[in-house]
Amino acid sequence: MLQTLMKPLMSSLSDSSENKNDNDIASQKKAERPDSDEQVAEQSYEFRSGSHDFENRMHKFNMTFLRALAKPILPAGYWSKNRYTRHDEKTPINLTFDDGPNPATTKELLVVLEDEKVKGTFFFIGENIRLYPELVEAVYKAGHIIGNHSMTHTFLPNLTRKAVEKEIDQTNQLITDIIGTGPTLFRAPYGIMDKRCAEALKERRMSTVYWGAMADDFRPIGEDAVVSRIMKQIPGNELVVLHEGRHPSQCIKSTREIIRRSKDLGFTFEPIQ
Ligand SMILES: [Zn+2]
Repeated sequence: MLQTLMKPLMSSLSDSSENKNDNDIASQKKAERPDSDEQVAEQSYEFRSGSHDFENRMHKFNMTFLRALAKPILPAGYWSKNRYTRHDEKTPINLTFDDGPNPATTKELLVVLEDEKVKGTFFFIGENIRLYPELVEAVYKAGHIIGNHSMTHTFLPNLTRKAVEKEIDQTNQLITDIIGTGPTLFRAPYGIMDKRCAEALKERRMSTVYWGAMADDFRPIGEDAVVSRIMKQIPGNELVVLHEGRHPSQCIKSTREIIRRSKDLGFTFEPIQ
């Protein structure tokens, strides 16, 4: 049932190659600038030269559809707008970064967040934590929140309960070994988990974090498109999901721009607690 309903979501996400593994990040480590500015500029140009609006409309339709599909199935956990109900002021924006740590992105993101005096939430993949423990420590020391994004970034509903628990526990242990305390937040790969995973998280007193504003930024769409898509979804989707795994330059530039534009609109920022 779940998988049938989630098929559109999976096909929407599967060609994203969001699934990180050691090789992806290791190969990025080898290449000095895996996402050259030219490449990003070229992609931005493609958007500017015709399909930008159409792409944005399709993206909006896609996200509205996916949310309508997923929310009734997965009502528990943290979605945009179900934690804060402030009427007297704007809901703070939660910037979240998935799929790191990544040596090509994480350090630069820390610089941007420090410059802008913003605290964010990083959902790290266990396999990447194992490769770059020093980045986990740096993020923690800078005062950001670290969440669990599974060990191998696999589609959890395909796993046995035992394997799901292993995905959670191994990553918790890696984080604990580095920062001395375990994470309380979990975001499932592709945002999808089933009841067994929800139960396993409950037993561990962990909270699930889903999504709000998304931009398909696991593809090289260019920072202009990322910023434009995210800003169109704020307000109302203050839980902002960005990906630091694959396109470092795009992620860093769009993060800075999203923060600046949001500040101009009077928004503040908070990590997810
Ligand atoms: Zn992810």
